Amino acid sequence: MSVEFAAHVIDQELVGRQMHEFARNLYPLCRSITGAGFRETLSRVSGHIPLQIHEVPTGTKVFDWNVPKEWNIRDAYVKNSMGERVIDFRESNLHVVSYSVPVRATLSLPELKKHLFTLPEHPDWIPYRTSYYQETWGFCLRHRDLLNMRDDLYEVCIDSSLEPGHLTYGEYYLPGSEGGEVLISCHACHPSLCNDNLSGMALVTFLAKHLSTRPRRYSYRFLFIPGTIGSITWLCLNESGVYRIRHGLVVACVGDRGKTTYKKSRQGDAEIDRAVAHVLKHSGQDYEIIDFFPYGYDERQYGSPGFDLPVGCLMRTPHGQYPQYHTSADDLDFVSPESLADSFKKYLAVLQVLENNRTYVNLNPKCEPQLGKRGLYRLMGGDRDTGFDQMAMLWVLNLSDGSHSLLDIADRSGYEFTMIGNAAKALREHQLLRLTEVESTGER
Ligand code: ZN
Repeated sequence: MSVEFAAHVIDQELVGRQMHEFARNLYPLCRSITGAGFRETLSRVSGHIPLQIHEVPTGTKVFDWNVPKEWNIRDAYVKNSMGERVIDFRESNLHVVSYSVPVRATLSLPELKKHLFTLPEHPDWIPYRTSYYQETWGFCLRHRDLLNMRDDLYEVCIDSSLEPGHLTYGEYYLPGSEGGEVLISCHACHPSLCNDNLSGMALVTFLAKHLSTRPRRYSYRFLFIPGTIGSITWLCLNESGVYRIRHGLVVACVGDRGKTTYKKSRQGDAEIDRAVAHVLKHSGQDYEIIDFFPYGYDERQYGSPGFDLPVGCLMRTPHGQYPQYHTSADDLDFVSPESLADSFKKYLAVLQVLENNRTYVNLNPKCEPQLGKRGLYRLMGGDRDTGFDQMAMLWVLNLSDGSHSLLDIADRSGYEFTMIGNAAKALREHQLLRLTEVESTGER
């Protein structure tokens, strides 16, 4: 294989631990779609990869949307008449509804309750709520704590600001040797929540770090953006270049202990969809593949009809399908180093397929070439050193008619892609195959 991203060069246990440590470091920050928490997050990611930071002013028109005001928060609490903080932002940033406007008031319990949100079915969990596009305020708390609040006059303080500022996002671009880009996108706008979305940020950071040290056919663009408004902003500002994107993945919910789930791109049968399906089929693990639907993460913006980019979402348990989703129970224990490492390995395997998926033409198409005189026949029955066997070679020779890619051949033969790729490499070295495409740096 020309490009090796393979898991064998990775110390899986180490990368899992490093990704979990990365999540632990970023966990306490109060992120939102704009503001200081988002900037500090990008600054910490920059400690791993050289991110380019973009600042887009409030009010910038991005398609049908406008970049919102910037939100920052310093402190927030609800105090009882004894002066005790019964709800305290310093204890968990989930206690404040994200984008709450500044408030200072004294309220009776019934008045205050109109601004309190709990999860009665999980009385020990704090829910996560946002109000980005409606100016209001609120607190989230454990239902158990709400039941303990007695009739009293409560002092309410949200020391926040919602003012013209900027939307911030981070971008890291790795050039490849040929035209065409792979887009790897994650949202980085959630506060202290781990699977959604620190796991995605960890995976993207360590994937980018790894790929930066490897030879690459494709260029890679890694985005750390606020959900929805971030991808809309990026697409609007970069519309003229999106034609370069050949494949893409949205990274989210990759650290829980559930099975891997792939949500197909809007196209449904794009090369990225087939590459992921191939890797999951040969993973030896349980998995699920679901069709595209216009909800979820930023794949719905990349897959809007005006773009229709081949961008799927490779995750573990999908959003909303685990009870801890968008609650304080999506914490550092909910994501495991093992699951993070397993997701990382699968992402690498998918990229390895994309990097090596070529279409060849058999240069000896009339009957089989005589493999024996080329020293290829000894591979009959398999050879551990070469990583392929004669059957894989015969499949490549037979289907390399200029219209079947190596992934087509792998799927049709039932072989794992790496075997087919290795067989093609050997055949090419013996001048039995030529590429159909021109290997160049030219753009489409
Ligand atoms: Zn979310």
